[in-house]
Amino acid sequence: MSERMHALVTGGSRGIGLAIIRELLSQGMEVWYLSRSKAEELERDVAHHVSCDMADRGQVEAALEAVIAEAKHIDVLVNNAGITRDGLIMRMKDEAWDEVLAVNLTSVFLTCRRLSRLMANQRKGSIINISSVVGIMGNGGQTNYAASKAGIIGFSKSLARELASRSVRVNVVAPGFISTSMTDVLGEQTKEQIKTQIPLGRIGNAEEVARSVAFLASENASYITGQVLAVDGGMSM
Ligand code: NDP
Repeated sequence: MSERMHALVTGGSRGIGLAIIRELLSQGMEVWYLSRSKAEELERDVAHHVSCDMADRGQVEAALEAVIAEAKHIDVLVNNAGITRDGLIMRMKDEAWDEVLAVNLTSVFLTCRRLSRLMANQRKGSIINISSVVGIMGNGGQTNYAASKAGIIGFSKSLARELASRSVRVNVVAPGFISTSMTDVLGEQTKEQIKTQIPLGRIGNAEEVARSVAFLASENASYITGQVLAVDGGMSM
């Protein structure tokens, strides 16, 4: 029997990350996740939670070492943790820029740097970084968020080139408008207006993103690396 696959997911206490954990568990993987709070909806003990603020470099590095010590091998890394701190550029505070870049982009650098070493030695691994259509198309009021999400795309393509010779694949999933706590704060009028820009005419759900992540994590995607898969109802085409 082949060894059980191990996955590490950042974020995961709710929303898209939680759906990703559920999907990977359903594929028979053992899952660790890093977030500040625990996913209350996950049955006890099905996934390993490590408390971690992804904006804190020291905490991220310590959490990664703890997971590696326990898991020994990590086959799948999903960088999902992300935040928004929206505002027009002229009024944007330094903190809104720094916080978004730290959680959304620097944390991706830190996890990939550490796990690249592990995966390269394993000669096996799949990294999936969660970007956004905003990283492709831009969005007024989200210069900080767009910079972090576009940064993920360039970073991932470069990393895919670095790690390909070690059979480690790196891909990006770029969700469109997905119903989670991140988007639930928007008013009904805004949501209706956004729907008019989505060819499929509806808001997506977290499970639809999770299934794409699970596909890229799996052997079904064995010849796919350096790609950006938009899961956005056609919004960015
Ligand atoms: P949610 O706000 O519902 O969940 C965000 C997750 O990230 C939570 O699990 C949260 O955990 C974690 N997180 C946030 N800040 C930190 C931190 N400092 N340290 C550790 N974990 C943190 O967002 P979504 O599920 O909607 O978003 C998930 C990803 O998908 C993000 O990267 C987002 O940018 C991206 N995305 C979402 C879209 C959407 O429409 N919803 C569209 C495009 C991209 P906790 O608070 O417990 O720490």
